[in-house]
Amino acid sequence: MTSRAAVHVAAKRTEIRELPLPLLASDAGLLRVVAAGVCGSDIAYYADGSVGPRILGHENVGLVEQLGALARERWGVREGDLVALEEYLPCGHCADCRAGEYRSCLQTDNTRAGALRYGTTGIDVPPALWGGYSQYQYLHPRAVLHRVPAGVSARLAAMALPLGNGFQWAYLDGGAGPGQTVVVQGPGQQGLACVVAAKAAGAKTVIVTGLARDETRLAVAKRLGADHCVAVDRDSLPDLVAEVTGGTLADLVIDVSSGGATAVVNGGLELLRKRGTLLVAAYKHAALDGFAIDAVIRGQITLRGVRGHSFRAVEMALNLMAQHDVDLNAMATHEFALDDVDRALRLVGGERGDGAIQVSIAPWS
Ligand SMILES: [Zn+2]
Ligand SMILES: [Zn+2]
Repeated sequence: MTSRAAVHVAAKRTEIRELPLPLLASDAGLLRVVAAGVCGSDIAYYADGSVGPRILGHENVGLVEQLGALARERWGVREGDLVALEEYLPCGHCADCRAGEYRSCLQTDNTRAGALRYGTTGIDVPPALWGGYSQYQYLHPRAVLHRVPAGVSARLAAMALPLGNGFQWAYLDGGAGPGQTVVVQGPGQQGLACVVAAKAAGAKTVIVTGLARDETRLAVAKRLGADHCVAVDRDSLPDLVAEVTGGTLADLVIDVSSGGATAVVNGGLELLRKRGTLLVAAYKHAALDGFAIDAVIRGQITLRGVRGHSFRAVEMALNLMAQHDVDLNAMATHEFALDDVDRALRLVGGERGDGAIQVSIAPWS
């Protein structure tokens, strides 16, 4: 038995290969992948030809195909169950893991050599099936599984991780809550996830920013519950925030934009009330020339970097999906077959002028 997989072999290129299915130990399993989301971080992985070959795809949902006896007992799932996988393969016993902060576990930190992580580990590490752009994915003993609630499709559940990030950042890390005004800078998948989470947490007013060319994505933001959408190259964001808050300004600003760096961060600081919080998630800020640290001090601002999600955040995302009161399908814009993984990655990596938001791969179509 083999698995068809789109193997990332060079910068911006994958090729279809048939890889053998593993013999499973008692504490491992095998997933039949049904939907694998394309993440913004996949674009950087895809452009990097210096690592691999590997199978990309770390936002994976599928049916449990095979389970060792020990895995069945430990994970509490059975063959045929629909599960959403996290990308992390944490060690389970370091201080971060013991504190429930396993996304910080060094054993699954893909910036370190030898770490294991779905969607980045190479096919040279047995049994090769570490990514979702493949018919089957190996369920490692350290895998983190979430049962998909009844009535939630695999296609929707493929958003469990990005939406989980939304809950982690806007709610658990940012403290969005009733009565608050939250500004989300950037209308991509992560920005929209923050909108959904902030509204679910009870935020009174959620404002999303983008550019005039993001019209489609801003329209989706409205469908997901955003109260105001601003094209910052056309309208004044500070004026809007001042107006809707009666001059008290925002409680929380989340920077999930993919560019603009200093202007976006400094601009975000100006939107905050005293003792407000600025979350930075966008990775473009390697160094900020002209960063307004005086504004942080003057406003007693909490500045916090955010990365990834906790188990709890992903459960919140799946529970929200099961409630069906937010039209999350509005985010699910494109689906591609395994043969079209390159097209899918290029679409997400491009300007997305055609309104692509959440793109996923269906490996069996
Ligand atoms: Zn991701
Ligand atoms: Zn650990």
